[in-house]
Amino acid sequence: MNKKTGKTPGSPRTRGRKGIRRSGPTSQQAAPSPEAPSGLKQLPIVGAQISTAGGFAPVPERAAALGAEVMQIFSSNPRTWRTRHPEPDEMAALKTGLRRYRLPLFFHTIYLINLASPDGELRARSAAALAHALVTGALAGAAGVVTHVGSHRGEGFEASIGLVAEAIRSAETTARETLAAEQTGQSEPALPPLLLETAVGAGAIVGRNIGELRALLEALALRPPARAVSRDRSTRPAPPSASSLTPGWPLDLGLCLDTAHLFAAGYPIHEETGLQVLLDELDRAGLLSRVGLIHLNDSASELASNRDRHANPGDGLIGYEGLARIVRHPALTRIPFVLEVPGAEGHGPDADNVALVKLMRAGLPRPAEAPSRPESPGHGG
Ligand SMILES: [Zn+2]
Repeated sequence: MNKKTGKTPGSPRTRGRKGIRRSGPTSQQAAPSPEAPSGLKQLPIVGAQISTAGGFAPVPERAAALGAEVMQIFSSNPRTWRTRHPEPDEMAALKTGLRRYRLPLFFHTIYLINLASPDGELRARSAAALAHALVTGALAGAAGVVTHVGSHRGEGFEASIGLVAEAIRSAETTARETLAAEQTGQSEPALPPLLLETAVGAGAIVGRNIGELRALLEALALRPPARAVSRDRSTRPAPPSASSLTPGWPLDLGLCLDTAHLFAAGYPIHEETGLQVLLDELDRAGLLSRVGLIHLNDSASELASNRDRHANPGDGLIGYEGLARIVRHPALTRIPFVLEVPGAEGHGPDADNVALVKLMRAGLPRPAEAPSRPESPGHGG
């Protein structure tokens, strides 16, 4: 997400939506594309964070107008704790639009969430906000919900693992109870997969590297659901069942990679070898198949700067060639790409941004006349 614009990215073509939910964040298939060059069986779908001004109903048409094939939106205003509960007709209009334009939808949680906070009250609030996003995602038939993990505030990553796992399980329990209460008698909609996003690695932020996210997912896969966030530390872990990440609980878990965050965290993904190192690391950790979404942002901040500033595609330090290599990498073709960039006007991703990424995807060079655009302060998102 883009903090400055308050806009959200969208979701992939609906073809894969059900597949994602059923078999994990990574199982979705993009439609085979006629543009796929020899050697690439298919090409990924690309889209953008879309503004929710005016509510959810106008969002799919807005996304389609940008040329997006997938979209991401905020589940509620990202800078406040106030939750929003769309009326059934607003949700129905959203879902009709998603079907009409064949747009898979991702939600992004609010910026205030800190699932790793040593402060039990803040953690409980964060779990409640996450539960709200999961419920909204379930009701909208979303392909996934993306969240930042948060900051351990100096307590150390190791100390945060149990807290994060507990908060997420608490959110899951709350979300299920809320859905059950709302759907009396009918079958509940399934919770969308939850995708933990890579962070820039500043200060005490959790999720700075693949190893940290792997540790969190492992803890979640092996831990029983918590009753509440700030109590119940006595919950006994379930017996470890092999090293599989297949969760013992219905909530599907995975990762959202953000190219600007990875770059600022020190992954040299602007170079071919650096990209391959990252993909190898994901593969070794058993997580390549768990990547459910990629935030395709250029970085206005330098490699390993730990600063979160997104640039329009091709205008940052990852650059056109670097991003094109990522969009066209054979290991990533099944994963949707979503832009969270400032756009030409600073109002969020625009049609030119989306069109440029489609050129990257097609293996074409950047047009000479492409204008240069402003950078945005990172969204933390
Ligand atoms: Zn992001």
